[in-house]
Amino acid sequence: MPRILFAAGDSRWPTYEAPLKAALAEKGIEAEIALEMAPETVDYIIYAPGSPLQDFTPYTNCKAVMNIWAGVEAIVGNPTLTQPLTRMVDHGLKQGMLEWVVGQVMRHHLGLDIHITTQDGVWRHDTTVPPLAEDRPVTMLGLGELGMAAGEALAKIGFPVTGWSRSPKESDLITTLHGAEGLTQALSTAQIVVLLVPFTPQTENLLNAETLALLPEGAVILNPGRGPLIDDSALLAALDSGQVSHATLDVFRTEPLPEDHAYWAHPKVTVSPHIASETRASTAAQVLAENIRRGEAGEPFRFQVDRSRGY
Ligand code: NAP
Repeated sequence: MPRILFAAGDSRWPTYEAPLKAALAEKGIEAEIALEMAPETVDYIIYAPGSPLQDFTPYTNCKAVMNIWAGVEAIVGNPTLTQPLTRMVDHGLKQGMLEWVVGQVMRHHLGLDIHITTQDGVWRHDTTVPPLAEDRPVTMLGLGELGMAAGEALAKIGFPVTGWSRSPKESDLITTLHGAEGLTQALSTAQIVVLLVPFTPQTENLLNAETLALLPEGAVILNPGRGPLIDDSALLAALDSGQVSHATLDVFRTEPLPEDHAYWAHPKVTVSPHIASETRASTAAQVLAENIRRGEAGEPFRFQVDRSRGY
């Protein structure tokens, strides 16, 4: 009987317990799951960043550490972690991110704020007519599970979408670019840029003074990826100069974003508290149970993190 340590935060346990047990039962797996276990008896660890569990050394029989978040930057470099590491890829995360990105793109594309923030009795019929989606190029930095889904959803609405990734990608709906040259091209036409690359040493400050300058004047930045993808000082300067007209930021170098951070007070910044796409226990439990089934059957895990790439 596999023994599973739930180390993804005690407060999450009530939400995960029933779906996890049901998903395991559906696969015919009888397992013991608990919040505490003798380390050497643990077969699988369900994990989330912020867990007090930081030293994996005593988990000598553990077959996999399963991160319930898509991003693994908080655990991938842990030197005590020698067990296979998996990350979360599931329907809930993907659909949630697609909906967030489409919603945020539509907000800026249609200029929705004007009529939401000015209910003052003035009939503003003379506002500029927005271009149609087909005249609003969007660039998706990152074409993985989330970036590709969100990019293709935008393309189906009519936006000309260009996507950028580390390795070459194919899509019937969007233009795909990769590598350093691809980045220059991807940014040069982007009226709206969405960041959905992981945080690794290679992607830190991906948007900096030099790359922000490649954008057409007045571009909008949406960052549901990770805070360190953006050089904050460079973004603030670009907002002040008008090079960037608005930034909607869901993730930050320090979370929660400190109360006195310049982003909170900046009129061209929208801050949201890392809520773009939450892991949902009901869909995540299916993925966790399937990986435990695989581990028990000696099959390769799904969504295993490549430590050398860092994601
Ligand atoms: P993924 O499937 O691993 O995709 C990552 C994409 O980024 C891939 O296309 C990858 O290129 C590209 N990439 C990585 N390093 C690169 C580099 N150096 N240069 C160019 N492209 C690079 O990840 P995902 O599941 O889509 O998730 C993306 C990120 O979203 C996560 O890492 C996490 O930080 C963030 N996220 C945020 C929230 C939220 O609520 N705010 C929720 C979930 C996830 P290749 O395809 O060539 O490998």
